[in-house]
Amino acid sequence: MGLLEDKVVPGRENRLEACIAYGGTACGLKMQNRSCLKNQERSFSQAGLCQLLPTMGMLLTLPETAVIVHGAIGCASNGVGALIGIRLRNIQNGNLKAEDSNWVSTNLTESDVVHGGEAKLEKAIVEVYERYHPKSIVVFQTCTPSIIGDDVAGIIDRMRERLDIPILAAYCEGFKTKVWATGYDVAFHAIVHGFIESDREGRPPRREPGRQNPRPLVNVINLASVGKPDEDEITRLLNAVGIDVNIGPNFATREAIRNMTQADLTISVCPTHDDYFVEYLSQEYGIPYVLKDMPIGLENTRTWLLDIAGHFGLETKAAEVIAAEEQKVLRAVAKYKPLLAGKSVFLSAGEFRALVTGALFQELGLEVAGVRSYHHDHFGKDYYEKLVQNQRGKNFSVDIANFQPFELTNLLKRIKPDLFVGHVTDNVWAAKLGLPTLTIFRIFDNYIGYRGFYAVAKKAARILRNSSFNRNFAQHTQNPYKAAWYEQNPFAFIKIQQEAEGGQEREAANE
Ligand code: SF4
Repeated sequence: MGLLEDKVVPGRENRLEACIAYGGTACGLKMQNRSCLKNQERSFSQAGLCQLLPTMGMLLTLPETAVIVHGAIGCASNGVGALIGIRLRNIQNGNLKAEDSNWVSTNLTESDVVHGGEAKLEKAIVEVYERYHPKSIVVFQTCTPSIIGDDVAGIIDRMRERLDIPILAAYCEGFKTKVWATGYDVAFHAIVHGFIESDREGRPPRREPGRQNPRPLVNVINLASVGKPDEDEITRLLNAVGIDVNIGPNFATREAIRNMTQADLTISVCPTHDDYFVEYLSQEYGIPYVLKDMPIGLENTRTWLLDIAGHFGLETKAAEVIAAEEQKVLRAVAKYKPLLAGKSVFLSAGEFRALVTGALFQELGLEVAGVRSYHHDHFGKDYYEKLVQNQRGKNFSVDIANFQPFELTNLLKRIKPDLFVGHVTDNVWAAKLGLPTLTIFRIFDNYIGYRGFYAVAKKAARILRNSSFNRNFAQHTQNPYKAAWYEQNPFAFIKIQQEAEGGQEREAANE
């Protein structure tokens, strides 16, 4: 099965054997096989993330598209945070007059749960169409209508007959998966079936085998959390090698997304984000892809660029660009290296991003002391060991957790890294312990490629030179955990589910 055949997107637990519970070390993780990890769960969970959030984060970026969240009103609140980022991205893109995406909820009540919510959804689609005149509508299926059995697919089919715009369906009930990254797959599924495979205007033609655009044209799959400075860096590097780019599907029009079926190559910037979509373009349109690296840090940017150039016989040109860029950036960061050398760093992010960022910091002379990944799958499998090898076999702590700040806080108290690097929502927990923190996913900053390497080095040096803000902050805040919790193993609540023995649990022996 694949994106085209899947009526409903499978959870990544099934499609990729992804798991969300492991506590131990990088070397310990290597000893586990993934089917064993799959049986690990928490007997206590403090937090989680619904797959609706990343789905919404992507689909709200589609220009002139209205979103209808079919469900309880709380589900739609996810759009608030997403809209802030989208508004800022529009400003970065020079669209100062861009209007906020229209986003509404069917606001299902207790009475609707008894009597059904189909009439409300049908009414909402018509009303949104007449009131806002969007170029497309996305309907989000959430937990409540799924549980009460609303025929959302049937309503969308009927409305597609009635209205002259594409209607996309995003089936993103949070109860169906604990791996939030499944939400990316849901967004790609909605985009492909609503924009590319729609019957109304027919499917774009399949590329002729061997056909190439006059200058190589590549799709770069963008992420809502990657800002314009990074997109500009990707474009700059690929253009320098002699390759044109088509960036999408976030912030892209329907036309630009359909044009993605005519490129010579698809390039992923993050394997965790893109694999479902790049496979589809490969199977249905014969477009090869590059999925394995992320252009963060010198070595990863080098292999990423050479891999892409290799598809077009442009390796020599790419090697020249790489040599010139590396020479320049290494000269530029030399003044920061004495401040960074020998320091320890803890990374927290989606798995692949956390790992490649660890490699970047190793190139700057820091040592990885710990990684907290939001989930684990085969894309990150070998990378933990690579990081261990890069620091002459020195092992480090690993927490695979869909957030769970209680584990993180306990772990950080033990490790006491010199620098904590992560999303802004993770950094607050480290800041409350007084640790210096660096935020890596701000859409204003460079993070990718050579400009990113320089920007991260500069920022890390500045933070380490003076980290008094967080030290003072820690003295005036407190964490909600009792002292007894810090005496326990941070992974005390990770258990192995003994399926064969009637669901009993035992403590996970991850070491
Ligand atoms: S878990 Fe279900 S009810 Fe909660 S936000 Fe997600 S879709 Fe809505």
